Amino acid sequence: MPEVLIIGAGISGLACAWRLKKLGIDTEIVEAATRAGGVIRTENINGYQIEWGPNSIQPAPAALKLIDEAGLWDDLLPPDPHAPRYIYLKGRLRKFPFGPLSLGGIARILAEPFIRSKSPKDESVRDFLVRRFGKQAHDRLAGPLFTGIYAADTGQLSMAAVLPRMLEMERDYGSLTAAMLRSFTRRRKRVETTKRRPRGFTLSFPLGMETLPARLAESLTIRYAVGDARIGMAPSTIITVPAYRAVDIVEKDCPDLARLLQNVRYSPIIVAASSLPEHSLKEPLSGFGFLVPREEGLHVLGTIFSSALFPGRAPDGRVLLTSFIGGSFEPHVLDWSDDQVWDVVGSELQRVLDSETKPDPVALVRHEHALPQYNIGHERWVASLNEQLQRRPGVFVTANFLEGASVPACIEQAERSAHRVAEFLRRKG
Ligand SMILES: Cc1cc2nc3c(=O)[nH]c(=O)nc-3n(C[C@H](O)[C@H](O)[C@H](O)COP(=O)(O)OP(=O)(O)OC[C@H]3O[C@@H](n4cnc5c(N)ncnc54)[C@H](O)[C@@H]3O)c2cc1C
Repeated sequence: MPEVLIIGAGISGLACAWRLKKLGIDTEIVEAATRAGGVIRTENINGYQIEWGPNSIQPAPAALKLIDEAGLWDDLLPPDPHAPRYIYLKGRLRKFPFGPLSLGGIARILAEPFIRSKSPKDESVRDFLVRRFGKQAHDRLAGPLFTGIYAADTGQLSMAAVLPRMLEMERDYGSLTAAMLRSFTRRRKRVETTKRRPRGFTLSFPLGMETLPARLAESLTIRYAVGDARIGMAPSTIITVPAYRAVDIVEKDCPDLARLLQNVRYSPIIVAASSLPEHSLKEPLSGFGFLVPREEGLHVLGTIFSSALFPGRAPDGRVLLTSFIGGSFEPHVLDWSDDQVWDVVGSELQRVLDSETKPDPVALVRHEHALPQYNIGHERWVASLNEQLQRRPGVFVTANFLEGASVPACIEQAERSAHRVAEFLRRKG
């Protein structure tokens, strides 16, 4: 029997097992599916290389360290750091960040250092951003960003859980602009002294994001197609599965913990990959992609220009587009038929890109539970969860519904959990 049983072979479970192995601790992962990676999945269909989960990750320190240790540093693929991002507003694509703003909107952002109010308890992301930067900056920039990337309603999202650093900046410097200027000068010094740092704000791999979990899985012990793991099967257990699956794992032994896990809400997303002939566009596709503010009334939350961003993602002469629909504002789209989805995605993409034809469907995937929502009250919920876990020594949770849902955040949490587990085993002797 392994010292540590890890349930789930998504990036949280893999990164945790990897660190424990490095610390000399024997682990076994049990995974319900027949592959590792969880939502990180790259699929090749008819010459298109499609990401059904994350398309790229930010170069955060813990993620870079893991990538380096896994021997994947030289495979890192940064897109053009100058690739523009767009917001679709009033009939055309406008460059992020200033393109979608009016002069009044820009002036309101510049007035941020003069806003004297401080965040009240339990402020939402929307209230915070509107208060500091104005409604337009929220509605046309931050809102689409959170809805497009995290499938979230900023009016529900907890500022303290999602952007705690900004709250600290406001508290410590009275203004985010002042705080950013100070940290920018410090960061410049740090970057100059850092030996290895990839170019770019976001990264992938030539063969797609699945490269990372696949590489980690190669050197870990994983049993696949095991869906009935429970706590108590090993001296310590690390649960890394989504909350609604974790409920079954703990229900019998820790009903209070199960009740808490039942409270995690998820947003659904449909990822739709479609393609166009290059010649159907008036100009070659370039840039990261576009996001859509809610005021535009489209169903498409955003689209990544996958083949423009990374080479080799589409056959010659074609472009690959990865679009997202659903999220917390439109969960019902999950019930649409494929034909309905293609109808909407096709006509909206044709309109936004001003293409001669509607894009051809390639394939789509429905994520019923795409992303956990860090809503107001999240921190209190995490504190209650930790209280429950303290009553159950040997049971640990590291997952995307606790301290950040991005891949780098999952890796960072997994790293911390691995050290906590190592400490637990050391004390236990
Ligand atoms: C559409 C989409 C786009 C995203 N885009 C980005 C992005 O661009 N950048 C970014 O950084 N992040 C992005 N994310 C977020 C990020 O990919 C995820 O939060 C992260 O990969 C979650 O990893 P995880 O290991 O915590 O969970 P999961 O990937 O869900 O892994 C959990 C694993 O547990 C297994 N499992 C479930 N139940 C059991 C059981 N009973 N027993 C054993 N195994 C079980 C599952 O099969 C799965 O393999 C995106 C997410 C989605 C859905």
